[in-house]
Amino acid sequence: MKKHNFSAGPSILPQEVFKKSADAILNFNNSNLSILEISHRSKDFIAVMDTACELALEHLNLQNKGYKALFLQGGASTQFLMVAYNLLNHKAAYLNTGTWSTKALKEAKLFGEVIEVASSKDKNFNYVPKNYSIPTDADYFHCTSNNTIFGTQLNHFPTTQIPMVCDMSSDIFSRVLDFSKFDLIYAGAQKNMGPAGTTLVVVKEDILGKIERTIPSIMDYRTHITAESMFNTPSVFAVYVSMLTLEWLKNLGGVAAIEKTNTQKAEILYSEIDRNPLFVGFAEKEDRSKMNVTFNLTEGANQELFDSLWKEAGISGINGHRSVGGYRASIYNAMPIESVQVLVDAMKEFERKS
Ligand SMILES: *Cc1c(COP(=O)(O)O)cnc(C)c1O
Repeated sequence: MKKHNFSAGPSILPQEVFKKSADAILNFNNSNLSILEISHRSKDFIAVMDTACELALEHLNLQNKGYKALFLQGGASTQFLMVAYNLLNHKAAYLNTGTWSTKALKEAKLFGEVIEVASSKDKNFNYVPKNYSIPTDADYFHCTSNNTIFGTQLNHFPTTQIPMVCDMSSDIFSRVLDFSKFDLIYAGAQKNMGPAGTTLVVVKEDILGKIERTIPSIMDYRTHITAESMFNTPSVFAVYVSMLTLEWLKNLGGVAAIEKTNTQKAEILYSEIDRNPLFVGFAEKEDRSKMNVTFNLTEGANQELFDSLWKEAGISGINGHRSVGGYRASIYNAMPIESVQVLVDAMKEFERKS
């Protein structure tokens, strides 16, 4: 039987996407060729890339607003560097809400002064700082919308006149936001969009070209815009699977529809964590993530028993990240509500048997 996969990334994708991807490996578009052996410059693959880019912009409601969508390589981690390469002249402002923000900040420091506007490190990143000010003379402001490891999520984004950059790797396409507030959004595919191997970048074109330094071609967003994400060989298969997931999302009714299910899933799980005396949530309630639910056993609870119960229930991937401990259930878009219920049932059974 298929496992209930709560892995944080690479993570669950819709079953129908797995099936279609498997078919395309054997016979892509009835060409009698595998998607793995065709040229990225073939007509059929160019159509895949175009569709993936269009769907990404459509889901974010950013068509015809001066934005370009790109599918690049190197993961979100390469974006930590590329953002600064392309946008940081003198000074940048960063909100530090976890491991990924910390890494982004570190790379930016290679290019200029970095102001950390606020940090939640004092409490091991279990909350999102509020009430900070953003220097208006900075080149851009950078934040992370969802903190995959600690299980917090930004519910409010600041307003600022400087460009806003956001790492949305673990909650892109999971909720409706005014995405036009952001000038650059990036997301590694492997959390909510596709397999590992490609990274979506959505950038407002008019923020580019304002930097004095020379940027190596492959690090320059303008290179990829001109080449329509084909400056070098793109991750053909990862882009194809991402396209299928974006189509799946569109057929479901888009981001607004999936947001309703995501909210329901999060409510089911958090209410059990709050009700069940054997569990305690990690993140501050008001900053809880609807994508990555972090929790611990209360002191003295029998970990071995709980671990055996969720394993018996066919659950996989809920061990917490080493920097938090405990458990982390990632409930991305493709996670069915029924799987969340299976986890909740295991938690209830644990209470009964303890
Ligand atoms: C997973 C993750 C990353 C790192 O992505 P890579 O593709 O492995 O480089 C960066 N930011 C966030 C928020 C993530 O969840």
